[in-house]
Amino acid sequence: SKWVFTFGDGRADGSVEDKDLLGGKGAYLAEMSRIGLPVPPGFTISSEVCAVYYELGRKLPDELKPMVDAALDAVGQIAGARFGDVDDPLLVSVRSGSRASMPGMMDTVLNLGLNDQTVEGLARRTADRRFAYDTYRRFIQMYADVVLGIDHGLFEEILENYKNLKGFELDPELAADDWAEIVTRYKAVVERELERPFPQDLHEQLWGAIAAVFGSWQNARAIAYRRLHDIPDDWGTAVTIQTMVFGNRGNNSATGVVFTRNPSTGANELYGEFLLNAQGEDVVAGLRTPQPLTEADSGASGNGKQSFEALLPEAFAELKRSCAALEKRFRDIQDIEFTVQEGKLFMLQTRAGKRSTQAALKIAVDMADEGLISREEAVLSLNANQLDQLLHPTLDPKAEMTVLAKGLPASPGAASGELVFAADEAVHLKAQGHTVILARVETSPEDVQGMHAAVGILTTRGGMTEPRRRRRPRMGRPCVVGAAAVHIDPEREILEAAGMQLRKGDIVTIDGSTGKIMKGRVTMREPDLSPDFTTLMGWADGFRRLRIRANADTPDDARQARAFGAEGIGLCRTEHMFFEESRILAMREMILAENSEGRRKALAKLLSSQRQDFIELFEIMAGLPVTIRLLDPPLHEFLPHGEDTIAAVADAMGVSLTHLKRRIAVLSEFNPMLGQRGARLLVSYPEIVEMQARAIFEAAIETGKALHDRVTPEIMVPLVSVKAELDIVKERIAATARAVEKERETSVAFQVGTMVELPRACLMAGEIGRSAEFFSFGTNDLTQTTFGLSRDDAGRFLSEYADKGIIPHDPFVTLDEAVGELMQIAVERGRATHPDLKIGLCGEHGGDPDTVNFCEKIALTYVSCSPYRVPVARLAAAQATL
Ligand code: ADP
Ligand code: MG
Ligand code: MG
Repeated sequence: SKWVFTFGDGRADGSVEDKDLLGGKGAYLAEMSRIGLPVPPGFTISSEVCAVYYELGRKLPDELKPMVDAALDAVGQIAGARFGDVDDPLLVSVRSGSRASMPGMMDTVLNLGLNDQTVEGLARRTADRRFAYDTYRRFIQMYADVVLGIDHGLFEEILENYKNLKGFELDPELAADDWAEIVTRYKAVVERELERPFPQDLHEQLWGAIAAVFGSWQNARAIAYRRLHDIPDDWGTAVTIQTMVFGNRGNNSATGVVFTRNPSTGANELYGEFLLNAQGEDVVAGLRTPQPLTEADSGASGNGKQSFEALLPEAFAELKRSCAALEKRFRDIQDIEFTVQEGKLFMLQTRAGKRSTQAALKIAVDMADEGLISREEAVLSLNANQLDQLLHPTLDPKAEMTVLAKGLPASPGAASGELVFAADEAVHLKAQGHTVILARVETSPEDVQGMHAAVGILTTRGGMTEPRRRRRPRMGRPCVVGAAAVHIDPEREILEAAGMQLRKGDIVTIDGSTGKIMKGRVTMREPDLSPDFTTLMGWADGFRRLRIRANADTPDDARQARAFGAEGIGLCRTEHMFFEESRILAMREMILAENSEGRRKALAKLLSSQRQDFIELFEIMAGLPVTIRLLDPPLHEFLPHGEDTIAAVADAMGVSLTHLKRRIAVLSEFNPMLGQRGARLLVSYPEIVEMQARAIFEAAIETGKALHDRVTPEIMVPLVSVKAELDIVKERIAATARAVEKERETSVAFQVGTMVELPRACLMAGEIGRSAEFFSFGTNDLTQTTFGLSRDDAGRFLSEYADKGIIPHDPFVTLDEAVGELMQIAVERGRATHPDLKIGLCGEHGGDPDTVNFCEKIALTYVSCSPYRVPVARLAAAQATL
């Protein structure tokens, strides 16, 4: 097969389609040549040869030789020089490049083709002996380092010593004879280290360099990079051999890098830097400070450095044209390497430019407006997950900070506030207008109110997939967990870390995107939802079919969700409403009551506040659907612990302490998550259904009056596995509706559906679908029950499973395939008996783009996710249809 692909002179064997064979670098060089850009001619040896090289035990195949010789001849013809010609030698670079960009990870050799004879030829032809010997010494050092494995420090030392001896400070002070002397000393080092002279045979040099570049595919750096970025080991690298052009031929020569647009803001302006009279690797080496590319940047930097635009206006104009041509061809922002040799521009590399999320948005919108790409392509060009970064305040990257410790980033965004160590304190201080960060060893259900009151949460225990994760805040607040290096003493209200002590009221900053915990206030940037964001989301909304709702339990969450474009609430968890201090007592009374009468008494205390909860939600979500899930408490979360709490409850209920303790013992379960919860609780404690349904209907009537619009709540029954469970609860709801209608002399509209979160419910969806007006997949529980594992305990082994490759990913983050299949079955069977059944998903998976994509495939009606993930889901839903 074809192993060698030439390019140059407006032609190329390969094209941008051949990235697999030619690597990104080779393929883009070929394409640049095809579209007539000034590319130094060269050829690329395909990555297939890399595989052969390793198969042969790190040896190049003999058949390659004649192919390379022929290509060298062809390139020499275009360049007007010959490899090894003592009068006019062709110099080349030998460059690496795989199909995935691995910047700086593999090796490159520049200025190859020089020996003691050709260096003189180069000196004569260029009439610049100083340049020739400077180039020769650069080559020896690079070749010795990359191919011969000699430490480049040895060469730097020689140059340093020489400069000191002669009283030189900078390289430009060295004359031709100085460089010739350096070359002599460099060759001596090689001879001493290798016990043989520096290779004078140019073909030996060339083959050595080609083998070294193939070899650099397996250097430690490249291997580590591939692990990190999931790049397969068997892709291999291509090798590109390209005519050298010289940016170090005087003050009308230069080398630089340019982005076709600003990669951090997205502004449509060239953005880059350059060095006058320098070779490409001088920019990377950072020995000299590069100068700004454009006049605008030069003015802005104010360092008096002259711009490329001002110094080399013709080359700049040509560069600008080339950038435009590249954007037109590749329809994306480009990251370019270029060199100017004696006023003439050459393009050396281009690739898609890395950009900030902000820039990505602006570039997508601008390019669509400019007609470079379609709106569909603009929507597809964004990474939905990355949108998340835009939606939270972020630390100012330039801000000074004292980092106390690093925990696990559990919920993105940054926040500063006064340190508090107790949930009730957080609630109390917030009521007084303080901004607080709640620091806990770990959080428990009793902390929920405090977590809501705090602007950020920090725990020293727990981890991303660790126990208690189910109770981790999901309220869109920045959160850092598992900060083991932080010591919290809640009794003394002291936090210690990094040898420092902070007390209650001291200001701390946490960054839930990186896990950093900082002392004091750190400057932040508010989420800046640019007009581009709105424009692009508008386009996305036009393409998507799936509706996007939010999981919201509080008015704050609901407002946030609406602001982010949620089209309703897909899940309002009512149990969260009962953790509040004023309500939890009544809740405990209700649970511990021994009969219906006792329960009714306790529930009556909750009715009016529950009604008020719903009124607020209905008002905020006016015109949009709201799904309310009836109480689904794992009862143990509400049972009182601790002598004082139990005594308080006993007091309120008018029973003795021993009596209450006995009752608690009776109610405690071995496995509460699989115990009397959800529908099972509602079947046994119908008073709960009555109270909640009444609160919902009364709220709907009141809000409906105020809004002059009918409110149709969706009531969701959790954890159903048998149709009869749903029927029993549904009948209670209907009876309550009739009672309310009679009392209020008005009609109420509502729907009753079920959460589908048990494998049995999925399989029986045809049956259950006859009774349900909607389904909503609770993928958290469905994942637990499908795997038969408890999320609260899975942390211990899930990370080990992921490390060992037993599971591909955390099933609580990315929907598992078996869970997906169960959902698919439920959709089919449910819609078979109930064709227009509305079906949603309301687990935490709802904010995961892959899951959204899957939900589009199986034709769900909507996906519901946390408020801050709503824009992510909107975009992912659009992408799923394109
Ligand atoms: P990397 O992938 O590490 O960037 P490159 O192959 O791009 O390595 O080369 C390193 C440096 O040498 C770059 O600055 C590049 O522009 C420059 N360079 C490579 N080939 C040539 C050439 N033929 N003429 C001039 N400069 C070159
Ligand atoms: Mg490069
Ligand atoms: Mg559930």
